[in-house]
Amino acid sequence: MNKIYFDHNATTPVIDEVFEAMVPFLKEQWGNPSSIHWAGRGTKKAVEDGREKICALLNCAPLELIFTSSGTEGDNHAIKGLAWAKKDKGNHIITTKVEHPAVLNTCKHLQKEGFEVTYLDVDKYGMISLDDLKAAITPKTILITVMFANNETGVIFPIKEIGAIAREKGITFHTDAVQAAGKIKIDVQDLNVDLLTISGHKLYGPKGIGALYVKRGTRLVPLIHGGHHERNRRGGTENVAGIVGMGKAADVALRDMDREIEHLTMLRNRLEKGMAERVPHITVNGHPDRRLPNTANISFEFVEGESLLLNLDMKGIAASSGSACTSGSLEPSHVLVSMGMTHELSHGSVRFSLGKSNTIEEIDYLLEIMPPIVERMRSMSPLYAGAKG
Ligand SMILES: *Cc1c(COP(=O)(O)O)cnc(C)c1O
Repeated sequence: MNKIYFDHNATTPVIDEVFEAMVPFLKEQWGNPSSIHWAGRGTKKAVEDGREKICALLNCAPLELIFTSSGTEGDNHAIKGLAWAKKDKGNHIITTKVEHPAVLNTCKHLQKEGFEVTYLDVDKYGMISLDDLKAAITPKTILITVMFANNETGVIFPIKEIGAIAREKGITFHTDAVQAAGKIKIDVQDLNVDLLTISGHKLYGPKGIGALYVKRGTRLVPLIHGGHHERNRRGGTENVAGIVGMGKAADVALRDMDREIEHLTMLRNRLEKGMAERVPHITVNGHPDRRLPNTANISFEFVEGESLLLNLDMKGIAASSGSACTSGSLEPSHVLVSMGMTHELSHGSVRFSLGKSNTIEEIDYLLEIMPPIVERMRSMSPLYAGAKG
């Protein structure tokens, strides 16, 4: 059976260059980076090399980057850490309805602690309105947190414009850039961002490592108290191999970005166009042009998405409905529902997220097997019989 992976927004494979860079730090180089003796010197240097490589991807200074265990920890650290540090100044946070659960559930938790949260609506393209954002700001607003790119639809938010609004009002701005990092250009200087979260395993690095950019002068209460690691900002002995791997992944992402954008855009367009030509009653979700190059989110009317995914899995194709973190539940995607989609249609939606190793042949294989699968599923739907007649 062919094994075809179209679920890169859930996680990416570790590429060879990353794996090879990590190996020495899983075996010979095991010293604690905090040790001053010979065993720690090499690993200390490896941590700082990794940090510099990730800083190059984001255009920040090494002192502005804290390593975390994941994107989820980075989001928690940024949002809780800022809210706790600024609680004397105000208790209001602005975010959107389409954030990843790592942001949404962190905000929900803070509501229990007495913070007030505004969840901005999105339009049918999954985009927020900057006027809504401005209107939501109050004298008590301390934090705006808006994702860089959506994990389900690939929609890219106007980060620079949001950053300018936040800066003018003296409000801290965090962005969850887990899906954007490595895929599109990120320059924290140019974007007026104060806090930015990324994760290793979404950019061909290993799992269990992430990073949080903290602009110089931004005070956060630590999430994890411990030793003097990360300049007292995040306790815990460094995940050296993870840092080395993520650093290498950042390096490769920067080196190959233009080529990848071109390759992925070509494949994604071929997938969307081909699907529209071969399968009736579908819609491509998300913003027509402000979208990640790799993500195609498609709704199939009169089809149950989970069964469609199982049918694809039987053919060796891995795709997903919504985010990996929401699937397994019977809840419709909060992102698609926020875009005004009915529960039925959102249940019939599939996300194909492409990556480095995908080929034209793989897209064409998908386009070949999809029409009969969808037709067979629809033939069992009484609603479809009605729509056709
Ligand atoms: C995957 C993801 C996260 C969580 O990152 P982990 O490293 O898996 O914890 C957060 N935000 C977005 C947008 C994501 O896609």
